[in-house]
Amino acid sequence: MKALIVDVLRHRVGKDERAAKPHDWFQAAVLSVRDKIIDQWFASTRRTYDEGGKRVYYLSMEFLIGRLMRDAMSNLGLTRDVENALRDHGFDLAQLEDLEPDAALGNGGLGRLAACFMESLATLDIPAYGYGIRYVNGMFRQRVDDGWQVELPETWLAHGNPWEFDRRESAYRVGFGGEVLEANGGVTWRPAEQVEASAVDTPVVGWRGARVNTLRLWTASALDPLRLDAFNAGDHAGALAEQVKADSLVRVLYPADNTPAGQELRLRQEFFFSSASIQDILRRHVQYHGDVRSLPEKAAIQLNDTHPSVAVAELMRLLIDVYGLEFDEAWDVTKATIAYTNHTLLPEALESWPLPLFERLLPRHMQIVYAINSRVLREAGRAGMSGEQIAAISLIDEGGERRVRMANLAFVGAHSVNGVAALHTELMKSTVFSDLHALYPTRINNKTNGVTPRRWLQQCNPGLTKVIREGIGDAFLDDAEKLTDLNALAGDAQFGERLAEVKRANKVALAAHLKQVMGIRLNPDALFDVQIKRIHEYKRQLLNLVETVALYDQIRSHPERDWVPRVKILGGKAAPSYHNAKLIIKLTNDIARRINSDPSVGGLLKVVFVPNYNVSFAEKIIPAADLSEQISTAGMEASGTGNMKFALNGALTIGTLDGANIEIKDRVGDDNIVIFGLTADEVNEKRANGYNPREIIEGNRELRQAVNAIASGVFSPDDPDRYKGLMGGLYDHDWFMLCADFDSYTQGQRKVDAIWQDEALWRKSAIHNIANVGWFSSDRTIGEYAREIWGVK
Ligand SMILES: *Cc1c(COP(=O)(O)O)cnc(C)c1O
Repeated sequence: MKALIVDVLRHRVGKDERAAKPHDWFQAAVLSVRDKIIDQWFASTRRTYDEGGKRVYYLSMEFLIGRLMRDAMSNLGLTRDVENALRDHGFDLAQLEDLEPDAALGNGGLGRLAACFMESLATLDIPAYGYGIRYVNGMFRQRVDDGWQVELPETWLAHGNPWEFDRRESAYRVGFGGEVLEANGGVTWRPAEQVEASAVDTPVVGWRGARVNTLRLWTASALDPLRLDAFNAGDHAGALAEQVKADSLVRVLYPADNTPAGQELRLRQEFFFSSASIQDILRRHVQYHGDVRSLPEKAAIQLNDTHPSVAVAELMRLLIDVYGLEFDEAWDVTKATIAYTNHTLLPEALESWPLPLFERLLPRHMQIVYAINSRVLREAGRAGMSGEQIAAISLIDEGGERRVRMANLAFVGAHSVNGVAALHTELMKSTVFSDLHALYPTRINNKTNGVTPRRWLQQCNPGLTKVIREGIGDAFLDDAEKLTDLNALAGDAQFGERLAEVKRANKVALAAHLKQVMGIRLNPDALFDVQIKRIHEYKRQLLNLVETVALYDQIRSHPERDWVPRVKILGGKAAPSYHNAKLIIKLTNDIARRINSDPSVGGLLKVVFVPNYNVSFAEKIIPAADLSEQISTAGMEASGTGNMKFALNGALTIGTLDGANIEIKDRVGDDNIVIFGLTADEVNEKRANGYNPREIIEGNRELRQAVNAIASGVFSPDDPDRYKGLMGGLYDHDWFMLCADFDSYTQGQRKVDAIWQDEALWRKSAIHNIANVGWFSSDRTIGEYAREIWGVK
């Protein structure tokens, strides 16, 4: 490895050892690791062709992959070699790793799930392609200025991307607009505009190098990138207009989490990558298997949420217009090939497009949607459904402005529709999809999310991994469910001590990092209480903040009590147009400024907002967390995956009975998790039967004092009215039921304190958490998809 890296440095990076800068060494190390991957990559591809097996195609608008260096080294077993090679040249691997940009091609959990799934697919030796968009500027970079979020473009490609390979030969035309022509019984779509989608491939290595799959991201270019005649005639900008327009398709990831951007460009992006991916899948299938009719035997297409659901109409169009299938035959092939994962029940997040827009951009697809719709509505009629039910099932929303319902299109065009945690799946059946479920009662199924234990245990927490290996051996490295062997060590004081030492070392490392990036000093012996995730009202960062203020009051009123020193760490990005989410970031920083400079709470309470939360930051924070905040309004968080990462790293959870928290509780046991608050049923019942938050605030002194302090400007003396509206919302409607849950949340937090004060009890609980969440490995999840949805081995 040492010789290889030097050779690569000289001949491919073009630097002499003496002149090379850290970035050159980093580049040389990456390219050396990449060389080791490539042979495996070719072998995997060849093996799939030879075996003629079924492939999985995972279509996702987002892949939140983060850094790849450690993943690749660790999965190939090269970490030690690279570390030693670099050390001999005077470089520390950990420092060089920090030079790798974080590939943030996703918003949050949904995009990170896609990345974990890609890694597990390779680990389980399942032939698979991920398909998405190569955003030039992915998720925005968050800066905090005077407590406010400021969005900056993320320039992750500024120094090139050593992991990717341009595949110019895999290019497809994607059309928009124009007209549909009918002649000789056939139909042709004549688009008014066309762009070229070309593939950029990134290898994805599985654990122990089992297989290398491909993440294929599309980039766009104009068919005629430079109109030379216009350029020579002096129109220098106009000559490039086509290319600029194509570029804009792959420029940014829409930073709205859980709401459709509602923009024409967004629909164009969705069609662009769906069309290129479906064309690529059909091209490969026909090349190797000849007839498109056998597609379902050789290809399984999974739609990650509603964003790629136009793929249903595009597959139908290609099968009918290009490959000449009859409608019925095409429909059978489509349904047997496609499966759909739903990620949210929030009504504002169920994507739909104004019908005139859809028709203008995709006129042929509009015809196909109508044809599918009439078929589905006929089935509903034959099943004896009421007019109201039929209206709910329709692919066209006829209420007010007519819209195309993309979730309904995905549902009817798929043979499997899955939710991402048990509660979420049940709520899909009883709420948004109740009528579709009545018509197709076997279609909805559950696949509880998971996370890859390679990244979220082995790589991010090598200290913990080492202690676990010493405790129970290596079997858990290949099967995370073997972590249950740790249960036997829960009462072992020595083992508990070693785990506590690792946790403390991780906290010291995080504190040092935060000292460096924010200049703040944290006590590693305090309880690190962490809430990191997208900022959203349903995730209730505000509940955490109101409790923080109440705790601050209590500490000042009762300094004699035996308070547990706490550091409250919050982090996350707000959608740029989401006013309240941005205000919650400012409130966090206002509260932090006040509390952190108040000598009367001394070392007992600190509040930190970490800027620019992303995958790399998560990898530093999660191993250092003692307490994981998973406090969404019950019924609103589909699954959560942050919850799984924390428990796997030995944090205790304080959480509501929501998403996968419920399944985590079932596995770690009621004594090893702190559950509080209303259930999803109780939330519904309260919303239906009148809920009076004002009465609750007025009846609870702690809550009232905290809310009124925030509302009256105690934390914002420069602008005393800043939080009046936000707090007024709690009094007036409190849609997210913060007030209803406040009392049981504070009781839960005092229960956390009590467990913390019993050191042995805390350690035992932490061990039971690590031991029992191996089931949340994405290997288990992918195994279920493979068996129950895709039919692959
Ligand atoms: C895991 C992860 C998420 C999802 O967190 P939730 O708490 O489930 O919302 C979001 N962002 C990043 C960077 C992650 O790693």
